[in-house]
Amino acid sequence: MRRNFLEYNSKMSEQKSILIIYTGGTIGMKENPETGALAPFNFEQILNEVPELRKFGFNLDTLSFSPLVDSSDITPDFWVALVEIIQQKYDQYNGFVILHGTDTMSFTASALSFMLENLSKPVVLTGSQLPIGKIRTDGKENLISATEIAAATSNNQPLVPEVTVFFENQLFRGNRTTKHNAEHFNAFRSDNYLPLAQAGISIKYNFANIHYPAKMLPLRVHTKLSADIAVLKLFPGITPQAVDAVLATSNIKAVILETFGSGNASTSPWFLKRIKDAIDKGILVLNVSQCKAGGVDMDKYENGIKLKEIGVASGCDITFEAAVAKLMFLIGNGFQGEELKQKVSKSISGEITC
Ligand code: ASP
Repeated sequence: MRRNFLEYNSKMSEQKSILIIYTGGTIGMKENPETGALAPFNFEQILNEVPELRKFGFNLDTLSFSPLVDSSDITPDFWVALVEIIQQKYDQYNGFVILHGTDTMSFTASALSFMLENLSKPVVLTGSQLPIGKIRTDGKENLISATEIAAATSNNQPLVPEVTVFFENQLFRGNRTTKHNAEHFNAFRSDNYLPLAQAGISIKYNFANIHYPAKMLPLRVHTKLSADIAVLKLFPGITPQAVDAVLATSNIKAVILETFGSGNASTSPWFLKRIKDAIDKGILVLNVSQCKAGGVDMDKYENGIKLKEIGVASGCDITFEAAVAKLMFLIGNGFQGEELKQKVSKSISGEITC
């Protein structure tokens, strides 16, 4: 799809410069006073809608995707467009705030964390459950705190040089998040990694959990992604036909096997044979638990050991969202076979602990 970007510059001071990239989603909606319908508002007016932002005294520039997207429509080429913007603007800004629909925000945050190698500036994704034009919106608070975090430095070094998600007073490592609530303001969780910051009367940073690059290297942007993956979510009573349908997907290079508990699956011979046949054909099978907290340990139960024996790779404590993005990234970059299996269980940007 052809995309245009509408840019507005609002010079406010010579101090910190933050680029706010608006991609779509609930946060940017405003009620049409005549019809009551929600429609995206003109981003040129962001400072009128959220005048509190002026008080920071930052140079705030905005860039709006055109067309705007509901995040359920997001595809990997959208992630490529986003990282290319960050690459082009990297030297001009101290940090980036991405306003994004909540539905797939965790997928985008995960993908960006792999695609932006050597990142040394904050990239904070946020959104809201209620449009910014609604009186009780959570969007203003989220946007204001995300902007403050994107600009936060100590000794001229950014406090959080990672891809993060800020939502309802908490800052999370993006590739550890999951959207878990479609209604409450605290829509995101990071069950396997502590928040990087908490916003109360002040913003308290959890420095021990934030990744700081050991060496300042130039940003390296990766734009090759492959969507040749499939997902097999297990449930008691799954039929051979359902398993076959997923494993027969043409061209797939990897399957995420969504297992029970600590990575367990049926030990029925028909099931194990199908998984082994897929592995023998060169398809990577990655074990990711259906549980949101904790992870895969294929040495714990007989049922898990069986999967390990036939060559299933461990997703350890990775989220489903990060597993999808990681496989797209690794396969897109040409990894396959044993090398892909090794890479997938090792951390690239803090998304997994094995
Ligand atoms: N469907 C919307 C989106 O993800 C929901 C939201 O923004 O919260 O774009």
